[in-house]
Amino acid sequence: MNVEQWAVRVPKKNGEQRRQQLIANGLLDTALKPFTEGEDILFPVTGGIDGGLRASFEAHEKRLATTVRHELIGGIAVLQERDYAAAGSLMGSRPGIHTVLATTSDVQGEYRTREFEVLAGVPTTRTQIIEYGHRFTVDLSEAYFSPRLATERQRVLHQMAEGETVLDMFAGVGPFAITMSKSACLVISSDINPAAVIMMKENCLDNRCTNVMPVLADSGRLSKILPWKFDRVVMNLPLLAHQFLEEAFLLCRPGGTIHCYALVSSDGEYLEKIRSFQPSGVREHVVRSYSPGKWHTVYDITAGK
Ligand code: SAM
Repeated sequence: MNVEQWAVRVPKKNGEQRRQQLIANGLLDTALKPFTEGEDILFPVTGGIDGGLRASFEAHEKRLATTVRHELIGGIAVLQERDYAAAGSLMGSRPGIHTVLATTSDVQGEYRTREFEVLAGVPTTRTQIIEYGHRFTVDLSEAYFSPRLATERQRVLHQMAEGETVLDMFAGVGPFAITMSKSACLVISSDINPAAVIMMKENCLDNRCTNVMPVLADSGRLSKILPWKFDRVVMNLPLLAHQFLEEAFLLCRPGGTIHCYALVSSDGEYLEKIRSFQPSGVREHVVRSYSPGKWHTVYDITAGK
């Protein structure tokens, strides 16, 4: 059985040394088998780390518990079904898992949260995620978080120039804002969900961020509240972000960048709408496959002069 997991790619000649480092740092996913690709070896790792990518690994036969289909968010494993046997064996399979949950609803509502039932372990929906040296706390029943966007956050960070002003319009518990604060002079980080904003503030403190300003607001009203125009605007609300494009263009300086996320079924689905705001450039980039026939896409837009 194959399982999708984070991976690091290492030249074969450095393989053993890197393997030992990963073990020493508690990052090697021992339930999955490394594999070679050309001159490189790919090691499965338990979280997003520098140079990380997603890859499909074969599971060790004797560690079948971990082949149960699940999503790992920090110390919480999320199953799609109420499978108590699978939950019990998952709990025993990885020391980092403190709780196994079953989702009992889709991602829903304005706050983009899910409902859960605790199947095994500590009865909580709160956990901590380590992502590229940052630590994010989230209560999954109160706020949205997806570790699958870790690489995308790094992609955006690496596009930034030092000292940018940034607006994160749909910030959740702050993973984009806190990641981007590394290069920014100021990040305004807004969300409509009060619980998410409280966790965002805790995450700013935990990560010693002194240039992120959490704001509890409906992002549809930000241009009336904020007196600034930003170098960069992040719009990570894939189902509805396109409805806030006018606001984003009002808040972005001429020549600044807007990252607008969307769920699409075909190339260029939102291009016509974006072009109606007369940007000076747009590039579309697939973030990941979302479901059969649907992709999580980002439009990197340069605002017109
Ligand atoms: N950017 C965060 C992340 O990557 O984890 C959260 C993304 S989540 C898909 C979208 C967020 O937008 C949710 O936290 C939700 O509460 C927030 N949201 C939805 N409608 C909003 C609005 N009108 N104004 C501000 N935030 C909103």
